[in-house]
Amino acid sequence: MPSDALTLCHECDLLQRNPPLPPGGSAQCVRCGCRLHKHRPDSLNRTLALALAGIVLFAIANSFPFLSFQMQGQTTQTTLFTGVQDLTEQGKGEVAAVVFFTSILAPGLQLALLLAVLLPLRLGGRLPPGYPTLFRWFKTLVPWGMMDVFMIGILVSVVKLTDMATIVPGPALFSFVVLIFVLAAAQAALDPDIVWARVPLPPALRRRPDPSQPVLGCDVCELVVPVQQASRDRRGHVRCPRCNDRLHRRKPRSLQRTWALVIAALVLYIPANLYPVMSVTSLGRTQSDTIFSGVVFLLNHDMWPLAAIVFVASIFVPLLKLLILMFLLVSVQTGSRWRPRDRTRLYRITEAIGRWSMVDIYVVTILVALVRLGNLASIQAEAGAVFFCAVVILTMLAAMTFDPRLIWDALERDRERDRGRDRGRETARDTGVRPGVVADAGRIEPTGASA
Ligand SMILES: [Zn+2]
Ligand SMILES: [Zn+2]
Repeated sequence: MPSDALTLCHECDLLQRNPPLPPGGSAQCVRCGCRLHKHRPDSLNRTLALALAGIVLFAIANSFPFLSFQMQGQTTQTTLFTGVQDLTEQGKGEVAAVVFFTSILAPGLQLALLLAVLLPLRLGGRLPPGYPTLFRWFKTLVPWGMMDVFMIGILVSVVKLTDMATIVPGPALFSFVVLIFVLAAAQAALDPDIVWARVPLPPALRRRPDPSQPVLGCDVCELVVPVQQASRDRRGHVRCPRCNDRLHRRKPRSLQRTWALVIAALVLYIPANLYPVMSVTSLGRTQSDTIFSGVVFLLNHDMWPLAAIVFVASIFVPLLKLLILMFLLVSVQTGSRWRPRDRTRLYRITEAIGRWSMVDIYVVTILVALVRLGNLASIQAEAGAVFFCAVVILTMLAAMTFDPRLIWDALERDRERDRGRDRGRETARDTGVRPGVVADAGRIEPTGASA
């Protein structure tokens, strides 16, 4: 059994043996319930085809008109990039940079990296130097690509403008919508194990690690590395021998960093909601909109589903996320043993929902780009947008710096103590797993249709 037949759960740090998986089946952590692996049939060909289609759609989405705005005989046309340009011109460069990165650069880079990683696999032969680093970057970019959130932003913007003008969709919009689904399908079809299996391992790691020796798990390629066999770089950092990512038992200074980011986000949440995010000039009159008044506007126009989306995404989610993170931080610092599995689930939720708060930032971007008719009608981004954008980014970073394995450390200490006290007796506490023994990961059979 080589090292890569073992998995160290990235959410609770339990060492487990990977079960053989049928096509479509997946392995689940026996302790915290997170998914460890999924067998995706014909992953290479399917992902490659989707990535190629994605590149074509991406090129169309970025070179043709996206939306046109027609009002009293005048027309403005926008491309995806126009909003970024206009925000920069209005002195909101920070917001422009975030919008550019999340709606254009990250998805584009993801597709390019995916091709760069999968093509050499498909063509066979030797892998190019730096190959694992490319795939590592791809993985890092995934949470920052937010085209699906941008799409909701387009819907909200179009509804906001229906009173004022006629909005005509351009060819880029159609490619953009298809691209969202293609990129999501490519991510779902991709089985990272087919990539990592091709990266050669040092001979020592092809043998079975001694379960009594301490091991480190790589967060990126999930290789289990015995501590003595981990290599150190010139600065003394322990590196993964397969993907070269830094290895650490827990994310470095996780609690301090997460607290700092949470507090910064909480402070900025106040001006983000008090200051207007944009001002609308129509026929010489100027009116400012905060995030909340934007929700009220949608409600007054009987668009309650969109009002609910914007309220939940922009007001409720950031606050909920900060409250959950504070609860998790306090529970870890007080050594709580309360429902570790549910607390891990809470963490998973905060990681998944944060990006949806970007909706309002995209709405401002799209409106600014579309409505540019001077005194007749124009929309300016205001200070609230900068604060709000900072809140979203800070809460996302906070969720990323928090290490869910800390939730399990108090129980792990109990297990260590019990092991010392009644050596030889079975001490199955929360997991049914005896200390020093490698657990078998749970196996979930494929459901009929996807098999
Ligand atoms: Zn786990
Ligand atoms: Zn690695």
